[in-house]
Amino acid sequence: MSALNILVVEDEDAIREMLVMVLEQASLNVIAVASAEEAQHSLADNARPDLVLLDWMLPGISGVELARRLKQDDLYKDLPIILLTARGEEEDKVRGLEIGADDYMTKPFSPKELVARIKAVLRRSGKNIEEEILKVGDISLDVNKHRITIDNKVVIVSPTEFKLMHFFMTHQDNVYSRTQLLDQVWGRSAYIEERTVDVHIRRLRKILKDFNKDDLVQTVRGFGYRFSVIE
Ligand code: CA
Repeated sequence: MSALNILVVEDEDAIREMLVMVLEQASLNVIAVASAEEAQHSLADNARPDLVLLDWMLPGISGVELARRLKQDDLYKDLPIILLTARGEEEDKVRGLEIGADDYMTKPFSPKELVARIKAVLRRSGKNIEEEILKVGDISLDVNKHRITIDNKVVIVSPTEFKLMHFFMTHQDNVYSRTQLLDQVWGRSAYIEERTVDVHIRRLRKILKDFNKDDLVQTVRGFGYRFSVIE
């Protein structure tokens, strides 16, 4: 069980209650408030949260303005923020990420996706809410120790290959496009070219090839990549 704290700032009661329920089900501690002003009081009065889930459109100080202020504040600039918005425009997404938000979600979203994004942002900020060792055949990946072993040998991988491997091991058999992999592995705030994905796929295959396991990472022509034990 984790003791990670999430501060939820959402003025719509129904959505706020849904968020609290979803996050508590994911074993996260939640403090929920309805305005940016209340959020500022909460930050001053309570233990520092590990992440802020912040609605863009709030009465009074807007969510995007609060995010901007927090990111300019030495005390809070490292506090991860996920912005929630009802508007899906690309311009908004770019603006949200420019002011330093760590991720951006458009309503309506699935609870599963929200929790996955929170985990991803927390992981990027060095916090793990999972304590687990993933296994696929003779490959095991220790989430907390950031260590991969294959056939009982520790394999040296870069942080990116590690994240890629983690993503593949938790998303077996599905095909992902380069764009999807960029979003999922590098995060939406990373502006990276799609061919970077190919470079890292090649490196990962090279590592796996030493153990005769490079065919786990499969190219799906015209679409992307798949990680599967089924050839
Ligand atoms: Ca709102």
